[in-house]
Amino acid sequence: MQLDALVVHYHEIGLKGRNRNFFENVLTRNLKRALRGTGYKRVRQGFGRVMIDFGPDALPEEAAQRAARVFGVAYVGLGVRVPPELETIAQVGLELMGTAPFETFAVRARRTYSTLPVTSNAINIEIGQRIVDQLDGKVDLSAPDATLTIELFGSTGIVFRERSRGPGGLPVGVSGRMLALLSGGIDSPVAAWRMARRGAEIELVHFHGRPFTDPSSIRQATELAEVFTRYHLRTSLHLIPLGDVQREIVTHAPSELRVVLYRRAMMRISAELARQRDAKAIVTGDALGQVASQTIENITTVDAAQDDTPVLRPLIGMDKQEIVDLAKEIGTYEISTRPYQDCCVLFEPRSPATRANAHIAEAGESDLDMDALVGKALAGIETTILEHPPAEYHRTSAGR
Ligand code: ATP
Ligand code: MG
Repeated sequence: MQLDALVVHYHEIGLKGRNRNFFENVLTRNLKRALRGTGYKRVRQGFGRVMIDFGPDALPEEAAQRAARVFGVAYVGLGVRVPPELETIAQVGLELMGTAPFETFAVRARRTYSTLPVTSNAINIEIGQRIVDQLDGKVDLSAPDATLTIELFGSTGIVFRERSRGPGGLPVGVSGRMLALLSGGIDSPVAAWRMARRGAEIELVHFHGRPFTDPSSIRQATELAEVFTRYHLRTSLHLIPLGDVQREIVTHAPSELRVVLYRRAMMRISAELARQRDAKAIVTGDALGQVASQTIENITTVDAAQDDTPVLRPLIGMDKQEIVDLAKEIGTYEISTRPYQDCCVLFEPRSPATRANAHIAEAGESDLDMDALVGKALAGIETTILEHPPAEYHRTSAGR
């Protein structure tokens, strides 16, 4: 049976008026981006859902999988488009139910301003009866093996048996732009993912220790950015050299303050980049007390380095195990646990300060020309744009 339609549902809670329009437009744009190369024919929004149609040479299964990863999506149904005619709906329903074995089943019809003058309940009974008679199915409304869903809206509809859950959240772009600081570790990609799921458009920022470290952290960050982009679809990755700044800190500041001063330098550089990129916030992967540098005192001291841009820490109250579980689900864990040379371990002192206050940090920086160092680091920035599906893929494939 040729599947030719995909229906995408989202949660409508809190969506009113113009906000709702904006949300739906951004979601539709992101769906189109995610589905490039699947050969879809048409994308329409209305009746609280997005409907996508496919021609005969398209890849609807692939499209359904990709749509189910787009933020803002509650669930997707992959099936067959139907006119509002009971007889056709019944035939399609029977055919779909015949594609795979089941014992118990349920039919769930839902009408939204449908032109078909029959109640949902009457549709359930009529089609359910035919499945009992012709396919020998047993009705079970609480835990069926198979569910046939019929959605009718306006003068069209869809019948489907396959339903996949989406990640929920909000479409990337509705919450504005933010910079997420990406190390090569476990936490920061999870933090960026969480904010993207809340609708933030993320630009990733990675600091590397070149020329004093090897390029392994850059490779690591790039691979993490690629996995992240499977969800985010189009991502700028900024690579910023911190090595020279670190050398200055090592030469001119007390050794126990190095790590905290590296972090403060990262914040200053990021705040300046946020200004240039019109980003509303900086996101980090800190979790309270996870490592010595993440005491509340050190976090406060790092935040005091700049006051232009708010710093968000979505993982602050999470346990390591919870973050690890999420990293596995997202698909970043395996990359994050590979060995790499992090810039922060460069000239790491034997006993770093765990509770450095802002005054101590400022005094430690007094011999440094921070503005000049920020400017120098930003002059060395390299930016790549990652896309999913990759650009060459959607250029060469049929359709779009
Ligand atoms: P992660 O697992 O994300 O590396 P971590 O537990 O190792 O976190 P830290 O090394 O203290 O924690 O880093 C705290 C946060 O600072 C990171 O989550 C990340 O957002 C940011 N950060 C650290 N190092 C870098 C870097 N080299 N480039 C960009 N951001 C960084
Ligand atoms: Mg780290």
